[in-house]
Amino acid sequence: MERKMEENMRDVDVGSEAGGEDALVGNVNKLMVTPPGYTGVPRKGHLVFDACFESGNLGRVDYISEFEFDLFIRPDTCNPRFRVWFNFTVENVRETQRVIFNIVNFSKTKSLYRDGMSPVVKSTSRPKWQRLPTKNVYYYRCPDHRRNYVMSFAFCFDREDDVYQFAYCYPYTYTRLQHYLDSLERRNLDYLQREQLGLSVQQRRLDLLTITSPAQQNPEKVKKLVVLTARVHPGESPASFICQGVIDFLVSQHPVAQTLRDHVIFKIVPMLNPDGVYLGNYRCSLMGFDLNRHWQEPSPWAHPTLHAVKQLIVQLSQDPVGLEFYIDVHAHSTMMNGFMYGNVFEEEERVQRQAVFPRLLCQNAPDFSFSNTSFNRDVVKAGTGRRFLGGLLDDTSYCYTLEVSFYSYMAAGSTSPVPYTEDTYMKLGRNVARTFLDYYRHNNFIDDNKLQIPNHINSMEVLSQGRQGNGNGNGRTSGSERGAERKNQSITGEY
Ligand SMILES: [Zn+2]
Repeated sequence: MERKMEENMRDVDVGSEAGGEDALVGNVNKLMVTPPGYTGVPRKGHLVFDACFESGNLGRVDYISEFEFDLFIRPDTCNPRFRVWFNFTVENVRETQRVIFNIVNFSKTKSLYRDGMSPVVKSTSRPKWQRLPTKNVYYYRCPDHRRNYVMSFAFCFDREDDVYQFAYCYPYTYTRLQHYLDSLERRNLDYLQREQLGLSVQQRRLDLLTITSPAQQNPEKVKKLVVLTARVHPGESPASFICQGVIDFLVSQHPVAQTLRDHVIFKIVPMLNPDGVYLGNYRCSLMGFDLNRHWQEPSPWAHPTLHAVKQLIVQLSQDPVGLEFYIDVHAHSTMMNGFMYGNVFEEEERVQRQAVFPRLLCQNAPDFSFSNTSFNRDVVKAGTGRRFLGGLLDDTSYCYTLEVSFYSYMAAGSTSPVPYTEDTYMKLGRNVARTFLDYYRHNNFIDDNKLQIPNHINSMEVLSQGRQGNGNGNGRTSGSERGAERKNQSITGEY
C-alpha cells in the first residue's frame, strides 16, 4: 500500500505543475488517477479529479484500490494549520461505478459529521446542490492515518457524461457575489449605493453597499446606523447566503423594508476576504492571516480589506448619527442552529439591552437559538471584530457575531435536525433584516402609530416574501422549485 501511494503522488505532482497560475496554490489539475504501474490507454472509470477553479480545493489524491481513494485537502495558502474546506470535480466516471472517498487530513477533530452532516454534491445534469445521504458518510479516528479523523463517504456514479462536484458546503464564490451586485446595480434603486471600499492584495474588489432612503426625501430625519460584514473567514459560505438574504429583503418593496430604509442606514460589506474566497481557503487570506484576529492593528499592505473596513467603522463611529449595530456573519463547524456571540459587560442594564436583538430574532427565525447565544471575553477572541469594536464603540451600541451551523437546525417541537439549504440560509438573512423593525419598535425609535405597515402583513408573509420573483435570481415560484427538486432526485449516489 505504501508503495502504491508513493507512485501515485508523482502523478499528482505532474498534474500540479501543468496547471499554470491556479496550480501555484497546489490544487490538483485535471488529474487522472490510474492504478499504480498502469501504462495502457486511459479508460472510462479512471477518475479525473480537478480543483483548479474558483473556490476549488483538493491538494492530492491517493489511489488505494479500484474502489477507494484517499483525498487530501490543500491547506490554506501560506497557512498549513487550516484544512477544512474542499471543493472539487470528478469526471470520466463509469455508470454504476462505486467509490469510497476518504478525506484524511482535516485540521479539526470535532465535526458536525458526527451529527449527520454530509458533503454537498451536484452534477452537470443536476445543477442544484444537495446533501449526500447521511447514512453514506462515516467520521472516525483512523489507525491508518496517524489516528487522524477521517471522513469517508460512499458514492455511486450514475451518468457517464456528467461532471460531479463535491464540496464541504454550498459554495458561494467571489464571482457569484459580483454578478449579484451587478444585477442589483442595474436596477438603479435610489436607495441603494454600491462603492468600492478598497482592493484585496490580489486586486479584487472590496464592495460596500449602503441601503437607505435618499436624504432629500426627509433631510431633517435622524437615522440609526447598522453595519454588517460577512466572509472574513472564506470557507464559511453560509455567511454569504445570509448576507444576500439580508440585502434581498432590505432592497425589496416589502413595507417593512421600506420603513426600515426610512429610519436606518445599512452599510454592508458582503465579502471581507475576497482573495481567501477565490482561493478556496477555509480561514485565511492569501498571505495566511486569519483576518478576524487582526482588528487591533490591521496593516494597509498585509490586510488591506480589513484595514479599509476598520477605517470605515472608526469614521462611522465618530459620525453624529452614531453606529448602533455591528454584526459580523460567520458559519460554525460544530454547533447547530443560528446563534450569536456578544460581549460581556459589567452593568446589568447593558447586558439586558444587548440581549434584546437576539431575543427578537429568536421570535422571528425558527432556526435561531437564543439558548446557544452567549456572551464572552476569551483571550483568543481578542482580535475579532466584535471584541475590538465592542471596546471602540460607545455603550449605546451593540456588536455581535452571527453564527450559523454548516449543517442543520432543530425546529421547535422536533427531535431530528433539519439540514440547511441555500434557501433556508437566505431566509435566516431575511429574518435578521426584519428583526430590526421589531427592535426599533421595541425601543420606540419607530413609532407604531406612524407605521405604514398594514395589519395583515405578518411574519409568515415576510417569510415567504423572498420566494416571489424579484429579478435577482433569488425568487422562484414554488412550482418551479418543486420541478427542480424532481430533476435532482436521482443524485443521491446510493451505494
Ligand atoms: Zn468564522
